[in-house]
Amino acid sequence: MHHLFGAFFLIIDNLIILKDYNFMHKKIILITLLLSCSLISCNINKEITYKDNVQIALGTVCSIKVDENVDEDIINNCFNVLSEVENELSRTNEFSLISILNREKKVKVNQEVFDLFKYSIDLAKNSDGKFNIAMGSVVSLWDIGGDNPRIPSDDELALVNINYEEIILNEDALTIEIPNDMEVDLGAIGKGYAADKLVSYLKSEGVYSAIINLGGNIVVIGEKNNESNWGIGIQHPDISNELFALFNVKDISIVTSGTYERYFEKDGIRYHHILDPTTLYPSISDIKSSTIIGPSSLICDSLSTTCFLLGYEKSLNLINNMEDYQAMFMLENNDIIFSDNFDIEYEILID
Ligand code: AMP
Ligand code: MG
Repeated sequence: MHHLFGAFFLIIDNLIILKDYNFMHKKIILITLLLSCSLISCNINKEITYKDNVQIALGTVCSIKVDENVDEDIINNCFNVLSEVENELSRTNEFSLISILNREKKVKVNQEVFDLFKYSIDLAKNSDGKFNIAMGSVVSLWDIGGDNPRIPSDDELALVNINYEEIILNEDALTIEIPNDMEVDLGAIGKGYAADKLVSYLKSEGVYSAIINLGGNIVVIGEKNNESNWGIGIQHPDISNELFALFNVKDISIVTSGTYERYFEKDGIRYHHILDPTTLYPSISDIKSSTIIGPSSLICDSLSTTCFLLGYEKSLNLINNMEDYQAMFMLENNDIIFSDNFDIEYEILID
């Protein structure tokens, strides 16, 4: 997990982002400001002052926005949870459990990490092998978002083993074992896993109104001021700091994957970080931006990456058959499409 450039959502709970809005944007701002004013005047005692607590963790910018009166120990514990996840799952932290597995090829884990592997392997099977945590050596060779991104040679790529079916999960012993020529990478799922842990912890401490943003992996807990939806903007994949959609949500996770998150360019070609297990090269998808919305951030995170890899027809098929998860895709031709069950209140901010 090396997601330093991964912050691709903007939270606009007070619509602070004022840029070159067209007429529709102005209208939305006006309505929101009017709504905010009337809420403030009607509920002056209820208004919560939220404090954004920001730290770098999991290789990305992580923010936890809660009532400013929430105990500082609780905030510190949240960042401790993120450090613990990093110590478990980060491929770039040489002391993590995953690094030990990648070096020593066998490791004992706790039940949660074991279940994460089990889920990941099931998803590999359900996505024709497109979602593949056994791509660690390939991710490492490309090093996209790392210090030395480069195009690996065919010889290097020929040596890697990405056959996830060779990962041995022993549920009784809680061990995970991989072949000598394999490495694993949980970058496509780790932030969602961490976000779910934070939600459980905050709720156990009685925090019922908050926004967690782990480098763009968002969870909103409860309602804003315990009475209204949160506004969450989705980054335009082609224009930095520009939103293309706005969701009004409560108690839900929203995760987007796209080529614009992490990439490098060489000879005019963009090489991005979502790698196709069939070619071992950046995936060529008809999806530019893949957003999944649902109750578990882990599942949203894994599915947003998977849908990007699958392309929109197979993705629609996958999401349409899921009860609790919804999708919005921006396609290469700029069309914006939704899964059949999409029932989130939204605005599209582009023509
Ligand atoms: P995300 O940002 O959640 O879409 O995940 C992208 C990250 O997942 C990459 O930076 C890699 O660490 C990892 N990854 C790349 N290709 C794959 C793949 N085919 N299956 C699973 N994980 C991948
Ligand atoms: Mg993901």
